Formats: sequence, C-alpha cells, structure tokens
Amino acid sequence: MADYSERDVLRELFPETARELFGDGHQAAAPTLGLYEVADGRRALVNGGRLAELEPLEPKGNKAAHCDLCHSTRSRNEVGIYRARSGERLYLYLTLCLVTEHCQRRAGKQGLEQLAERVLSAHSVSDEG
Ligand SMILES: [Zn+2]
Repeated sequence: MADYSERDVLRELFPETARELFGDGHQAAAPTLGLYEVADGRRALVNGGRLAELEPLEPKGNKAAHCDLCHSTRSRNEVGIYRARSGERLYLYLTLCLVTEHCQRRAGKQGLEQLAERVLSAHSVSDEG
C-alpha cells in the first residue's frame, strides 16, 4: 500500500480545498512522489514540491503504444496521450497507461522518479502542434 494519503496529495495540490476539507491542524505533508488523477481527466505528476499537470489529448491512430512510465507495450485503448506543459510554448507528450495504479506498480519508485525528472526538467521539447 502507498504510504502517502489522498489527504497529503490534496494538501499539496489544492491547499485551500484541503484546508476546507480537513481543517488546518496538520503538519506539512511529507515529500510526495506519484502520478495522481485530478479533475477533468487530467493527471498531476508530483515529485517533492514540484508539480506538472498532464492534460489528456484525443488519441489518434490505433497502433500499439509504448507507455512512458512502465515501458510496457500496450494496445491503444489501454493508454492515454497526455501533454505536459514544461514552458511558455513547450510541451512534452507522454503515453501513459489508463490504469495508473498498475502502471505505477510496474514502474516502481525509480520509474516514477525518472519520469518526474524528464517532465519536470524538460526544456528542449518543441510544440508539435
Ligand atoms: Zn504504464
């Protein structure tokens, strides 16, 4: 089981919401690493205090896809395409399993860290469209 809670995630991503829901009596959340589903099909990639928001895109084609997190080859209907904003006009495109729980379990902490580094430190990927 994960040792971080939904509460910690909420507190990091939406501190005001967390305050409303849980009150203000807790210590600051521990550093968090993970990929979380947030509103509107978006996902948030969190590593410590850094956060990248992943925006879902319309999938195109029906070829098999390679997941950028767990590195499994999946069929198209098992993955989503996400766009992470990494600068004013810079985007990083990611293919991720829709069932993120299993995906993250396959990837492990190291896989998540690598993805987080890639997304949160990306500066040189141009906008493809
Ligand atoms: Zn995956």
